[in-house]
Parts: sequence; structure tokens; C-alpha cells
Amino acid sequence: MKPFAERVSTLESEGAYAVLARSQELEAQGKEILHLEIGQPDFDTPANVRAAAVKAIRGGQTRYNPPAGVPALRALIAREAGRQHGLEFTPSQVVIGPGAKPGLFFPTLALVEAGDEVIYPDPGFPTYKAMIAIAGGVPVPVPLREENGFSFDLNAFDQAISKRTRLIVLNSPANPTGGVIPLADLRHIAARAREVGAWVLSDEIYGRLAYDGNQVPSIASLPGMMERCIIVDGFSKTYAMTGWRLGYTIMPEALAGRVELLLTHSVGCTATFTQYAGIEAINGPQDQVGAMVAEYQRRRDHIVAGLNAIPGVHCLVPQGAFYAFPNVKSFGKSSSEIARRLLDEAGVAALSGTDFGPNGEGYLRLCYATSLTTIDRAIEKMGAFFRSLAA
Ligand code: PMP
Repeated sequence: MKPFAERVSTLESEGAYAVLARSQELEAQGKEILHLEIGQPDFDTPANVRAAAVKAIRGGQTRYNPPAGVPALRALIAREAGRQHGLEFTPSQVVIGPGAKPGLFFPTLALVEAGDEVIYPDPGFPTYKAMIAIAGGVPVPVPLREENGFSFDLNAFDQAISKRTRLIVLNSPANPTGGVIPLADLRHIAARAREVGAWVLSDEIYGRLAYDGNQVPSIASLPGMMERCIIVDGFSKTYAMTGWRLGYTIMPEALAGRVELLLTHSVGCTATFTQYAGIEAINGPQDQVGAMVAEYQRRRDHIVAGLNAIPGVHCLVPQGAFYAFPNVKSFGKSSSEIARRLLDEAGVAALSGTDFGPNGEGYLRLCYATSLTTIDRAIEKMGAFFRSLAA
């Protein structure tokens, strides 16, 4: 039999799934595991949002809707995202999808031809490399450096970008580092993108999860950038709605039309009642978002202080998202060995930095979207583990 198509030959699973499977095996043996591997809010979806979905189902919103989404939600997102970015968006620029992931995949498929180069962050969200491979593009990873708060190494970026660059993927605040790209770096990247005629895909899924009262700058807001930008956002993180599958993409209208066709022929459309829940999420009170962000910040401060108190561990203060990315290079072992042994020997489920690219070597990713009690116990166990590793 012929082997599988070339485009799927390099695909790999997300590291979190493998660690989750191993954790469950250990739990089945009666071991207690502290879960810091899964990147999702531990909060429930706000009650008003759940009620809106139930009302929509009872009211019969259970049929197909247009592939690009329910018009009222597209209009609402155009207005709200426009306000956030200081830009004017029309509803026809907004495409709704089942989660933010289709908003990464489909614009990439619509833009990248075989052989086109795509710049993306290393370490970065694993879907970036996968979608570039599926589109037949050439992945060009650019390192993020701890020294610059995990923004791009701009020297490496300048060497990587050329007329062959079709697309630049940015993620701020970032998974897995929690880093935010400063405005000056965005200006630099924008200028180079314009020079070479590249598109920019700005993954802003953690855009509202920023700390210390900071606003996260968006490259799309810089002068003249929206004509070459795709903003990717969604409800998963901001409103604790990971399982609902609801996200959106904002881009120039002509590209939106192509993305809509890809949605038409793949997923058909996004669940109708889910979109009514999305309308309520945006229109309803926002105090729960504020409360969640305040709680994440409290947990961030806790986990970072705890990690930095362990001799040999160094953790930068993440500016957004809900991940800590401690440096464990001083132990002289690979991140994957440390992550594996942390799980097996200390019962702490964390991800190896290399699950996000080779440049994640020397780091671990810990998701702190979990209770302070779990964080405290994990820190205690990690402290004992690292002390014995250093001994
Ligand atoms: N982008 C990043 C950086 C993410 O971390 C995630 C979720 N882990 C997504 C996109 C996908 O979001 P969704 O679940 O809404 O598809």
C-alpha cells in the first residue's frame, strides 16, 4: 500500500496530550498527580453565557448558519475588536470558526504556497509548525530569548526575513513563555514585513490575559498594517470556553472570502447556539473576566516566587497568558528528562520546553490556571525533586 500523504508525515501530537495520558496511567495506579500541563482555565464558563446557550437551544437555534458565522456575532466582534485595536472593521472582515485553531489554519492555507517561507516563534504553540507543514510552506523558526522577555531575537529575525517570507506568525502574550512583544519590537517587525511584502498572522488569543494593568499592543494597530494582518482571537481563554469551540479571525475582506470558502467545504459552519453564547459573552458584564485575570495574577506571583526560591531554578515574571516558563539549565539535564522524572518521581505534570520547539531546551512549561493549593503543593514537591537532582 502507498504510504500516507507527505503532508501528514511530519505531524506530531501536542506534548500536553502525551503527558496527560501518562498522568492518567499513574493515577490509575493510585498515584496522586498535580496537573500543571494542560493549558486551559480551571474556571467555569460564566453562568450568563451558559444560560444564553441553553436559551438558544430551547429557542431552536440548532440549524446551519452561514459558514462565516451568525451575522449579529460578526457585527458585534467587528465593533468590539475595532474599539480594542483603534481601527474600523466591517462585519465582512470577521470570520467565525470552531475555536481559534481554524483561524490559524485556514488563513495559512489561503496564503502559503508550496515553498513559501513562514516565520514563527521557537518556542511556540505547536500548531504553527503543523499548519505551515500542511500548507507545504517552509518553516523558519526564529528564537525567542529570555534576555528580551521572550520576545523575538530581532537579529535572528532580520536574518530570517527575506522576499521569500510570505507570512510571519506572532503570538503575544505567548504560549508557552507568557512573554509580551513590546511595541518597539512590533514596530521593527512591521517595518520589515512591509519592506518584503509579507503577511502577519497575530495570534491574540491571550490578549485580554495581561497583568499589572498593562495593555498588550497589537501589530495590527500600527499604521498601514491591517491590510496585511490577520488577527486571531476567540472565547476559549478570555471566557473560559475551551470546550465550546468558538473563535474568530479578522482580516482584509478579500482574504476573509477565501477563508469562508475553506470553512464552507471543511467544517461547514460553527455551531449556531454556541455563537449565541458568544454574543452574550461580549454583551454581558465583563467583571468575571476582570476577576479571572486578577486571580491568575495572584497565582502567577505565587508560582514565580515559589520557583525562584528553589536553588538552581530561574523564572522570569510572565506578562500575560497563564504559563510560567522556568529556566532549569543549571541542572545539566535535558528538559524532557526533567519533565519525565518530575512526573514519575514527584507526581508533578509539567511540559518540557522542547514540546514547543528546539529552542525550548532548558525550560519547563507550567500552567498556573489551577488552584493556589495545587500550585503550593507542586512547588513543594518540585523543591524536593530539584534539591535531590542537584545533590
Ligand atoms: N493559540 C494559542 C497560542 C493557544 O495556546 C491556543 C490554545 N491552547 C490556541 C491558539 C487555540 O485556541 P482554541 O482552543 O480556541 O482553538
